[in-house]
Amino acid sequence: MLRDSAEWTSIKRARYCVGCERQFTDGETYGSMLFAGDEGLAREDYCTACWDGAAQSKRSSAISHWLGRFKAEPVMKKEEPIARSMAERLLRKYMDAREPAQVNFRFILALMMERKKRLIPRDRVTEAGTGTIMVVYELADTGETFLIEDPKLQLSQAREVQKQVKELLDLEQAAAAPPPAPDATNDATVEGTVDATAHEGVR
Ligand SMILES: [Zn+2]
Repeated sequence: MLRDSAEWTSIKRARYCVGCERQFTDGETYGSMLFAGDEGLAREDYCTACWDGAAQSKRSSAISHWLGRFKAEPVMKKEEPIARSMAERLLRKYMDAREPAQVNFRFILALMMERKKRLIPRDRVTEAGTGTIMVVYELADTGETFLIEDPKLQLSQAREVQKQVKELLDLEQAAAAPPPAPDATNDATVEGTVDATAHEGVR
């Protein structure tokens, strides 16, 4: 069911509690649930009172749930670091990709964003039937949900893909000014290699 239609796209976090319709305030803890339905994935966000109250009984039917902290919508700055927006733009561009190479690319890109605390891993969901593992991420700034397939890469594969991601990021960044901060370009070194096996142990 997860693999049908529009499920790869991101799902926005609500600004209001689904239960009491109160608007979330900056810094407030919220609870989120993901449901798989006929129309694809749906997300519901609750304040803690509703989370511990009326929403409690719904949790068993959710495919994933987690707690997060609400951040007021960021004010867009003109001088947003290029490396960040570029990685996020690439991730969005590859969200619908199905080719194995693109799935690998998207996964490594997400791991790199996780390392930079741009994406927060919330959960891992195993798809019934196929056994496909999806990582449930939230975008740090907006709380938007991204479901990223974990292609179970070997470490050597992960390094190769990371090189490709890095090269593409460099290309995109070279096309934009100003040049990226030095630490934004150091991810392809051996020391900086993301551990693609960290979530599941080395296989
Ligand atoms: Zn509520």
